[in-house]
Amino acid sequence: MEPIELLARLIAEAGRVVVFTGAGISTESGIPDFRSPGGIWDTFDPDDFTYQKFVSSLETRRKQWQLLRLGALITGIEPNPAHYAIAELYSLGKLDCVITQNIDSLHQKAGVPPDRVFELHGNMQWARCLDCYRRFPMEEIVPGMKEEDEVPDCPHCHGMLKPDVVLFGEQLPRETLMEAARRSRNCDLFIVVGSTLIVYPAAYMPLYARDAGARLAIVNLTETDLDRDAAVVIHDKAGETLSAVIEKVRQKLPPPR
Ligand code: NAD
Ligand code: ZN
Repeated sequence: MEPIELLARLIAEAGRVVVFTGAGISTESGIPDFRSPGGIWDTFDPDDFTYQKFVSSLETRRKQWQLLRLGALITGIEPNPAHYAIAELYSLGKLDCVITQNIDSLHQKAGVPPDRVFELHGNMQWARCLDCYRRFPMEEIVPGMKEEDEVPDCPHCHGMLKPDVVLFGEQLPRETLMEAARRSRNCDLFIVVGSTLIVYPAAYMPLYARDAGARLAIVNLTETDLDRDAAVVIHDKAGETLSAVIEKVRQKLPPPR
Protein backbone atom coordinates (compact mmCIF):
# COMPACT_ATOMS: atom_id res chain seq x y z
CA MET A 1 0.00 0.00 0.00
CA GLU A 2 1.16 3.52 -0.71
CA PRO A 3 2.77 4.91 2.51
CA ILE A 4 0.56 8.01 2.76
CA GLU A 5 -2.55 5.89 2.45
CA LEU A 6 -1.15 3.45 4.98
CA LEU A 7 -0.39 6.16 7.52
CA ALA A 8 -3.88 7.64 7.04
CA ARG A 9 -5.38 4.24 7.62
CA LEU A 10 -3.32 3.62 10.77
CA ILE A 11 -4.49 6.98 12.12
CA ALA A 12 -8.13 6.32 11.27
CA GLU A 13 -7.95 2.95 13.02
CA ALA A 14 -6.04 4.22 16.07
CA GLY A 15 -7.72 5.19 19.32
CA ARG A 16 -4.91 7.28 20.77
CA VAL A 17 -2.25 8.93 18.67
CA VAL A 18 0.87 10.55 20.09
CA VAL A 19 2.92 12.75 17.78
CA PHE A 20 6.58 13.28 18.62
CA THR A 21 8.33 16.17 16.90
CA GLY A 22 11.85 17.50 16.47
CA ALA A 23 13.48 20.46 14.81
CA GLY A 24 12.71 19.01 11.34
CA ILE A 25 9.02 19.89 11.61
CA SER A 26 9.87 23.58 11.92
CA THR A 27 12.43 23.92 9.11
CA GLU A 28 9.58 24.65 6.68
CA SER A 29 8.63 27.55 8.98
CA GLY A 30 12.11 28.95 8.43
CA ILE A 31 13.82 27.80 11.64
CA PRO A 32 16.99 25.85 10.88
CA ASP A 33 17.39 22.48 12.60
CA PHE A 34 20.62 21.48 14.33
CA ARG A 35 22.15 18.76 12.28
CA SER A 36 21.09 19.22 8.66
CA PRO A 37 23.51 21.09 6.35
CA GLY A 38 22.97 24.81 7.05
CA GLY A 39 21.67 23.89 10.50
CA ILE A 40 22.49 25.72 13.70
CA TRP A 41 25.61 23.60 14.35
CA ASP A 42 27.14 24.99 11.17
CA THR A 43 27.14 28.48 12.71
CA PHE A 44 27.35 27.86 16.46
CA ASP A 45 29.54 25.55 18.49
CA PRO A 46 27.59 22.87 20.43
CA ASP A 47 30.14 23.23 23.22
CA ASP A 48 28.66 26.65 23.92
CA PHE A 49 25.35 25.03 24.80
CA THR A 50 26.25 23.17 27.94
CA TYR A 51 24.78 24.14 31.27
CA GLN A 52 28.22 24.02 32.87
CA LYS A 53 29.61 26.55 30.43
CA PHE A 54 26.57 28.75 30.73
CA VAL A 55 26.96 29.18 34.46
CA SER A 56 30.76 29.40 34.43
CA SER A 57 31.57 31.60 31.45
CA LEU A 58 30.37 35.11 30.71
CA GLU A 59 31.53 34.67 27.12
CA THR A 60 29.23 31.66 26.72
CA ARG A 61 26.29 33.50 28.27
CA ARG A 62 26.92 36.29 25.83
CA LYS A 63 26.81 33.92 22.83
CA GLN A 64 23.71 32.17 24.12
CA TRP A 65 21.82 35.37 24.63
CA GLN A 66 22.88 36.51 21.19
CA LEU A 67 21.42 33.37 19.65
CA LEU A 68 18.29 33.41 21.76
CA ARG A 69 17.78 37.05 21.12
CA LEU A 70 17.93 36.35 17.40
CA GLY A 71 15.38 33.61 17.92
CA ALA A 72 13.16 35.62 20.21
CA LEU A 73 13.20 38.52 17.81
CA ILE A 74 12.25 36.49 14.78
CA THR A 75 8.77 37.76 14.32
CA GLY A 76 6.46 36.30 11.77
CA ILE A 77 7.52 32.70 12.40
CA GLU A 78 4.32 30.82 11.69
CA PRO A 79 3.26 27.21 11.90
CA ASN A 80 3.49 25.35 8.59
CA PRO A 81 1.10 22.76 7.09
CA ALA A 82 2.69 20.00 9.20
CA HIS A 83 1.81 21.81 12.44
CA TYR A 84 -1.70 22.49 11.15
CA ALA A 85 -2.23 18.87 10.12
CA ILE A 86 -1.32 17.76 13.64
CA ALA A 87 -3.68 20.34 15.15
CA GLU A 88 -6.40 18.96 12.91
CA LEU A 89 -5.77 15.49 14.28
CA TYR A 90 -6.70 16.99 17.61
CA SER A 91 -9.95 18.48 16.32
CA LEU A 92 -10.76 15.12 14.75
CA GLY A 93 -10.49 13.58 18.21
CA LYS A 94 -7.49 11.42 17.31
CA LEU A 95 -4.61 13.17 19.01
CA ASP A 96 -3.77 12.36 22.60
CA CYS A 97 -0.85 14.79 22.73
CA VAL A 98 2.21 16.22 21.05
CA ILE A 99 5.56 15.55 22.66
CA THR A 100 8.09 17.98 21.26
CA GLN A 101 11.78 18.70 21.50
CA ASN A 102 11.16 22.10 19.97
CA ILE A 103 11.17 25.35 21.86
CA ASP A 104 9.30 27.41 19.27
CA SER A 105 5.64 27.14 20.48
CA LEU A 106 4.44 26.44 16.93
CA HIS A 107 2.20 23.51 17.92
CA GLN A 108 0.24 25.72 20.29
CA LYS A 109 0.14 28.47 17.69
CA ALA A 110 -1.32 25.99 15.20
CA GLY A 111 -4.14 25.19 17.63
CA VAL A 112 -3.11 22.23 19.80
CA PRO A 113 -4.28 23.11 23.34
CA PRO A 114 -1.23 24.04 25.48
CA ASP A 115 -2.02 21.30 28.02
CA ARG A 116 -1.65 18.73 25.24
CA VAL A 117 1.83 19.89 24.25
CA PHE A 118 4.68 18.42 26.28
CA GLU A 119 7.80 20.48 25.73
CA LEU A 120 10.71 18.29 26.77
CA HIS A 121 13.33 20.96 26.17
CA GLY A 122 11.53 24.00 27.50
CA ASN A 123 10.32 27.02 25.63
CA MET A 124 11.93 30.11 24.25
CA GLN A 125 9.16 32.40 25.46
CA TRP A 126 10.52 32.46 29.00
CA ALA A 127 13.68 33.28 30.91
CA ARG A 128 14.37 31.98 34.41
CA CYS A 129 16.52 33.37 37.20
CA LEU A 130 18.99 30.79 38.52
CA ASP A 131 19.05 32.56 41.88
CA CYS A 132 15.43 33.32 42.80
CA TYR A 133 13.83 30.89 40.23
CA ARG A 134 11.34 33.49 39.07
CA ARG A 135 10.24 33.20 35.47
CA PHE A 136 9.90 36.20 33.12
CA PRO A 137 8.36 36.42 29.67
CA MET A 138 11.12 36.87 27.05
CA GLU A 139 9.26 39.86 25.70
CA GLU A 140 9.88 41.68 28.98
CA ILE A 141 13.60 40.90 28.81
CA VAL A 142 14.67 41.18 25.19
CA PRO A 143 13.48 44.73 24.37
CA GLY A 144 15.56 45.98 27.30
CA MET A 145 18.75 44.55 25.77
CA LYS A 146 20.41 47.58 24.26
CA GLU A 147 23.81 46.25 23.24
CA GLU A 148 24.10 43.36 20.84
CA ASP A 149 26.31 41.45 23.27
CA GLU A 150 24.37 42.34 26.42
CA VAL A 151 23.76 39.68 29.03
CA PRO A 152 20.58 40.58 30.89
CA ASP A 153 20.19 39.82 34.59
CA CYS A 154 17.15 39.10 36.74
CA PRO A 155 14.79 42.11 36.93
CA HIS A 156 13.89 41.05 40.48
CA CYS A 157 17.19 40.12 42.20
CA HIS A 158 19.84 40.79 39.52
CA GLY A 159 20.72 37.11 39.64
CA MET A 160 21.85 35.08 36.64
CA LEU A 161 19.13 34.86 34.03
CA LYS A 162 18.90 31.88 31.71
CA PRO A 163 16.58 31.30 28.78
CA ASP A 164 14.18 28.62 30.03
CA VAL A 165 15.33 26.01 27.54
CA VAL A 166 17.18 22.84 28.44
CA LEU A 167 20.90 22.99 27.75
CA PHE A 168 23.20 19.99 27.32
CA GLY A 169 24.03 18.59 30.71
CA GLU A 170 20.86 20.02 32.23
CA GLN A 171 17.95 18.00 33.63
CA LEU A 172 14.75 17.86 31.64
CA PRO A 173 11.62 19.19 33.37
CA ARG A 174 10.69 16.19 35.50
CA GLU A 175 6.90 16.33 35.48
CA THR A 176 6.77 16.92 31.74
CA LEU A 177 9.13 14.04 31.08
CA MET A 178 7.14 11.65 33.28
CA GLU A 179 3.83 12.57 31.74
CA ALA A 180 5.26 12.29 28.23
CA ALA A 181 6.63 8.83 29.03
CA ARG A 182 3.28 7.74 30.45
CA ARG A 183 1.38 8.90 27.38
CA SER A 184 3.92 7.28 25.06
CA ARG A 185 3.30 3.94 26.76
CA ASN A 186 -0.47 4.38 26.50
CA CYS A 187 -0.91 5.25 22.85
CA ASP A 188 -1.60 2.82 20.05
CA LEU A 189 0.04 4.86 17.30
CA PHE A 190 3.22 6.89 17.81
CA ILE A 191 4.18 9.20 14.95
CA VAL A 192 7.69 10.70 14.77
CA VAL A 193 8.02 13.86 12.69
CA GLY A 194 11.34 15.58 11.91
CA SER A 195 13.72 14.15 14.46
CA THR A 196 17.04 12.36 14.16
CA LEU A 197 16.06 10.41 17.31
CA ILE A 198 19.55 10.68 18.72
CA VAL A 199 19.00 13.15 21.55
CA TYR A 200 18.20 11.35 24.82
CA PRO A 201 16.16 11.11 26.99
CA ALA A 202 13.69 12.52 24.43
CA ALA A 203 14.43 9.67 22.03
CA TYR A 204 13.32 7.12 24.64
CA MET A 205 9.68 8.09 23.95
CA PRO A 206 9.28 6.11 20.72
CA LEU A 207 11.02 3.16 22.40
CA TYR A 208 8.56 3.27 25.30
CA ALA A 209 5.69 3.31 22.81
CA ARG A 210 7.11 0.48 20.71
CA ASP A 211 7.88 -1.69 23.73
CA ALA A 212 4.34 -1.18 25.05
CA GLY A 213 2.96 -2.46 21.75
CA ALA A 214 2.15 0.75 19.85
CA ARG A 215 2.71 1.02 16.13
CA LEU A 216 5.38 3.43 15.00
CA ALA A 217 5.24 5.77 12.03
CA ILE A 218 8.16 7.95 10.97
CA VAL A 219 8.05 11.02 8.76
CA ASN A 220 11.59 12.34 8.40
CA LEU A 221 13.76 13.52 5.52
CA THR A 222 16.60 11.23 6.45
CA GLU A 223 16.90 7.73 7.90
CA THR A 224 16.67 7.02 11.62
CA ASP A 225 17.74 4.00 13.66
CA LEU A 226 14.09 3.22 14.34
CA ASP A 227 13.03 3.01 10.68
CA ARG A 228 13.26 -0.76 10.74
CA ASP A 229 10.78 -0.99 13.63
CA ALA A 230 8.19 1.26 12.05
CA ALA A 231 4.98 0.14 10.38
CA VAL A 232 5.40 2.99 7.93
CA VAL A 233 8.38 5.22 7.08
CA ILE A 234 8.16 8.28 4.84
CA HIS A 235 11.42 10.02 3.90
CA ASP A 236 9.94 13.25 2.71
CA LYS A 237 9.07 16.77 3.83
CA ALA A 238 6.72 16.91 6.79
CA GLY A 239 4.50 19.70 5.42
CA GLU A 240 3.44 18.07 2.18
CA THR A 241 3.36 14.60 3.65
CA LEU A 242 1.15 15.39 6.62
CA SER A 243 -1.19 17.57 4.53
CA ALA A 244 -1.73 14.66 2.19
CA VAL A 245 -2.18 12.27 5.10
CA ILE A 246 -4.69 14.44 6.94
CA GLU A 247 -6.77 14.87 3.82
CA LYS A 248 -7.13 11.11 3.57
CA VAL A 249 -7.85 10.81 7.28
CA ARG A 250 -10.63 13.37 6.93
CA GLN A 251 -12.27 11.25 4.24
CA LYS A 252 -12.16 8.18 6.45
CA LEU A 253 -13.66 9.77 9.56
CA PRO A 254 -17.01 11.34 10.33
CA PRO A 255 -16.68 15.16 10.38
CA PRO A 256 -16.06 16.75 13.82
CA ARG A 257 -19.17 18.15 15.52
P1 NAD B 1 17.86 17.47 14.52
O1 NAD B 1 18.31 18.78 13.95
O2 NAD B 1 18.87 16.62 15.14
O3 NAD B 1 17.15 16.62 13.35
C1 NAD B 1 16.17 17.13 12.51
C2 NAD B 1 15.70 16.00 11.61
O4 NAD B 1 14.63 16.50 10.81
C3 NAD B 1 16.76 15.48 10.64
O5 NAD B 1 16.76 14.08 10.66
C4 NAD B 1 16.29 16.00 9.25
O6 NAD B 1 16.54 15.07 8.22
C5 NAD B 1 14.81 16.14 9.47
N1 NAD B 1 14.18 17.19 8.68
C6 NAD B 1 14.66 18.42 8.37
N2 NAD B 1 13.74 19.13 7.66
C7 NAD B 1 12.65 18.30 7.52
C8 NAD B 1 11.40 18.44 6.88
N3 NAD B 1 11.05 19.58 6.24
N4 NAD B 1 10.53 17.42 6.95
C9 NAD B 1 10.85 16.26 7.59
N5 NAD B 1 12.04 16.07 8.19
C10 NAD B 1 12.93 17.08 8.16
O7 NAD B 1 16.66 17.77 15.48
P2 NAD B 1 16.08 17.01 16.76
O8 NAD B 1 16.03 15.55 16.53
O9 NAD B 1 14.87 17.75 17.11
O10 NAD B 1 17.17 17.23 17.90
C11 NAD B 1 17.85 18.46 18.04
C12 NAD B 1 17.55 19.37 19.22
O11 NAD B 1 17.42 20.66 18.66
C13 NAD B 1 16.29 19.20 19.95
O12 NAD B 1 16.68 18.99 21.25
C14 NAD B 1 15.54 20.56 19.90
O13 NAD B 1 15.28 21.00 21.22
C15 NAD B 1 16.52 21.52 19.33
N6 NAD B 1 16.07 22.48 18.29
C16 NAD B 1 14.81 23.01 18.28
C17 NAD B 1 14.43 23.89 17.25
C18 NAD B 1 13.02 24.45 17.27
O14 NAD B 1 12.47 24.67 18.34
N7 NAD B 1 12.42 24.65 16.09
C19 NAD B 1 15.31 24.22 16.24
C20 NAD B 1 16.62 23.68 16.28
C21 NAD B 1 16.97 22.79 17.32
ZN1 ZN C 1 16.15 36.57 40.48
